Amino acid sequence: RLKEGRALAQDVWSIYNAANLPADCINLGQGYMNFPPPVWVKEAAGEALNSVAANHYSHPKGRIRLRQALKDHFGPDFGRDLDVESEILVTSGANEGQYSVFVAFLEQGDEVIMFEPFFDQYLPSVTFNGGVPVYVPLHPPKHDGRHSSSEWTIDFDELRRAVTPRTKMIIVNTPHNPVGKVFTRHELEQIAALAEEHNLLVMSDEVYDSLVYDDNEHVRIATLPGMWDRTVTVGSAGKMFAATGWRVGWLIGPASILTPTLAATTRIVFCSNSPLQEASAVGLEQAKKRGFLLQQRDEYAERRAILTAGFDKLGMKYTLPQGSYFVLLDISTVRWPEDYPFPQSVEGRGRDFKACWFIAMEVGVSSIPVSEFYCLEHTSIGESYARFAFCKDVDTLKHAVERLQALK
Ligand code: GLN
Repeated sequence: RLKEGRALAQDVWSIYNAANLPADCINLGQGYMNFPPPVWVKEAAGEALNSVAANHYSHPKGRIRLRQALKDHFGPDFGRDLDVESEILVTSGANEGQYSVFVAFLEQGDEVIMFEPFFDQYLPSVTFNGGVPVYVPLHPPKHDGRHSSSEWTIDFDELRRAVTPRTKMIIVNTPHNPVGKVFTRHELEQIAALAEEHNLLVMSDEVYDSLVYDDNEHVRIATLPGMWDRTVTVGSAGKMFAATGWRVGWLIGPASILTPTLAATTRIVFCSNSPLQEASAVGLEQAKKRGFLLQQRDEYAERRAILTAGFDKLGMKYTLPQGSYFVLLDISTVRWPEDYPFPQSVEGRGRDFKACWFIAMEVGVSSIPVSEFYCLEHTSIGESYARFAFCKDVDTLKHAVERLQALK
């Protein structure tokens, strides 16, 4: 299983890691912030370290304070009085939560539908657990210039054709990484109808749910009629509180999904990082009261505007994201000398791996090649794009934009 697909290839995050790039290269690659968590959340982390209990194992379900805070914060969004004992599960980041769902539910040969491009972790997480990924494309718009992530569309006949008697699950990711697409209610309704018809589980990765821009609406597929019982929703403290290294995430869903998943997560990690669960609880308890999430979203909207104004000035084709903190830039016009010295790690990969390396070394801004978010057979589709992350302070983004003008 480990040899299937690209699962053993070096992961993109370690190739374009700051450690391999020039020291002054501006990192718009892996999505993490260059600013700290809010001070009141950091202080809560410090306080937790001073409590003896919070330095020790948590209940495998997660610390009760965090589960309670998740219930209070997200219950209204789901329109439910969430049961902290059976409908909320704290995980070691969103990744581990998703992995535990696969461990709990996939049998050898079960098919898992995912929209392509897909967040790269899904592929090995599915295959490591005996699952078979089935890809349904998000079709990019054909025209040049700037376009909205809403123009990446699903062909629902293609989606229907992807379902077989072996299909177990569909992965939805909204706001979407790397496209930034916010799935519409109508799209989610059609996915939901298919899931109902074929009795499928839905894993809805909504880790960027607090970063939805303009008048786009974040719709939770779990809230559509009949969907609660078959959907597990994935969330992340790292994205909400600028703390991606804390590895605190959660799953919200029915006991029928979370009980087996709890058994899996208990055996994988036993429990998640205790003091940072306490801090995340404080974050959630106070986020709404402080107006923090809306203010943060507006700050991200400004960051998005700075980066995309830079791409407008360049006149290059790109996707304006409706949500998340990523912009896809069409890099098919970027050229480099034939004898350019690329490292072994990018040789033999898509053209985008070379383009991203070249831009990082010569322009001084790193990004992530998007063919990593496609299966091997579809490398040629993904290799037209590089993903730039704008979860950075305004000065850093302005500096990056200046440097990127060299692509002209
Ligand atoms: N979610 C982050 C990104 O897409 C980091 C990926 C990871 O977990 N390795 O940049």
